[in-house]
Amino acid sequence: MTITKDAVVSIHYTLRDDNGNVLDSSSGRDPLQYLHGRGNLIIGMEEGLEGKSHGDQLELKIAPEKGYGEKNDKLVQKVPRSAFGDQKVDAGMQFNTQNGQVVTVTEVGLEHVTVDGNHPLAGVPLNFEVEIVAVREATKDEIEHGHVHGPGGHAH
Ligand code: ZN
Repeated sequence: MTITKDAVVSIHYTLRDDNGNVLDSSSGRDPLQYLHGRGNLIIGMEEGLEGKSHGDQLELKIAPEKGYGEKNDKLVQKVPRSAFGDQKVDAGMQFNTQNGQVVTVTEVGLEHVTVDGNHPLAGVPLNFEVEIVAVREATKDEIEHGHVHGPGGHAH
């Protein structure tokens, strides 16, 4: 079957930036399995996979607006060092804020710490190599829940 809304799709992928550096890959892991057409993947990926079928290999070049969004400068903030208490803080560390947002520490000063609430891939053009390894129809439960069940999927 071809990939359309509510297909359960399994893919292997490699993600590179514009310089060819590998940012993420499913190589050596189980394929990524997702329910198509429900916003489970970035929009550029779902658009690129629509209508494709098992065995297809494709290259997708995805701009930030169809990936993880543009970088928003308002999400970069300086907070007092004291907000972290006695905790050790280094650049690159990630914290969950009270409202569930994930922020990354980008700079540590004596008085202030700079944190960035953007997704690490915001503003980054994405170059995906994708191989479609399986496509099947979703079960009724999966459609109701909006995600995949079973091996490689969501556990209840
Ligand atoms: Zn479920």
